[in-house]
Amino acid sequence: MEDIRDITYERLEEYLVSLGEKKFRAKQIWTWLWQKGAGSFEEMSNLSKPLRERLERGFTFHRAEIEQELRSKDTTLKYAIRLHDGKEVEGVLIPSKDRVTACVSSQVGCPLGCAFCATGTMGFIRNLHYSEIVDEYVLMNRKAIAAYGHEISNIVFMGMGEPLLNFDNVMTAIDKLTDPEGWGLSPTRITLSTAGIIKGIKALADRNFPCGLAISLHSADPIVRETLMPVTQGNSLHDLQAALRYYHQKTGDRITLEYLLLSFVNDSVAAAEQLARFCRPFPVKINIIEYNETPDGKFHKSYPNHREAFIEYLNSCNMVVRVRASKGQDIAAACGQLVKKQGDHRE
Ligand code: SAH
Ligand code: SF4
Repeated sequence: MEDIRDITYERLEEYLVSLGEKKFRAKQIWTWLWQKGAGSFEEMSNLSKPLRERLERGFTFHRAEIEQELRSKDTTLKYAIRLHDGKEVEGVLIPSKDRVTACVSSQVGCPLGCAFCATGTMGFIRNLHYSEIVDEYVLMNRKAIAAYGHEISNIVFMGMGEPLLNFDNVMTAIDKLTDPEGWGLSPTRITLSTAGIIKGIKALADRNFPCGLAISLHSADPIVRETLMPVTQGNSLHDLQAALRYYHQKTGDRITLEYLLLSFVNDSVAAAEQLARFCRPFPVKINIIEYNETPDGKFHKSYPNHREAFIEYLNSCNMVVRVRASKGQDIAAACGQLVKKQGDHRE
């Protein structure tokens, strides 16, 4: 059976007409699906009972659910979200003074296998459907209102998975979230983070992507980056640099680079020099991220004096640098850690 949220508006209209219903019913159902975030036909209170029952017989409703909530001392909330087939992804809510940021997943697992990332060690399980990405928002938005008294103001695709390897679903989810007739979120409050899939970055540039784009660079040294991020093999730093220049030319946007400081791996002043050289062709904003240590103990966060020297060098080149403290460390809020932990328990 087909999922009701997998069909087009036109097909829904045709289906309803074939049942002898008026066309405007499609609009009502659409509003329930893509504006109110209904989780069942039963909730669609302005439809007749027989129609709701008919819809139930005609379609499935692949609704995600919150399986587990973890609360951090720093008020970060982390969720394990269970999908209709029992697979799990994670979402995180990060409150700050004037915003609530939701971190959403785009895939179950991830095929890119970065050495420092808990999700990477899970391998790739499957892509999320766009309706599942929207569910992450809907479910966590309710939690945000309950916990902080505020709706989600910002969304970052920094949970599990590589969004540019699930391109169509991620783009459709963003369309649904920003549709003025749906949730109407501003695209400027959505950020997509990628490990550097060149084809995807060019495709975003060509469609004049209205949201923010962040690149997880983590090293500007080809050999170090390849060990940390195997994606570098088919997406070389040289080609990535050219793609980012292209993106900047097309959109006029400053390029945001994420840089995770790993002790004695990528945190020397020489590494900062390489980073500055990589950034020469376009204006950048560097987000320095503190490593959220994973239980395997393979990597460690940088010593404060090394971190300071690294940042100092970038500042001396007049680069825009922002340091992001890692949130929710006590609840394993870094990418993939929660679901991985649950998986470990079950084995
Ligand atoms: N696949 C995409 C988006 C998801 S990962 C990407 O890699 O950009 C989101 C961010 O979390 C990436 O910048 C990633 O490098 C970072 N990350 C992964 N594991 C982490 C950890 N243990 N501590 C801190 N950040 C981590
Ligand atoms: Fe995948 Fe991003 Fe984790 Fe790398 S950091 S394994 S790309 S989710």
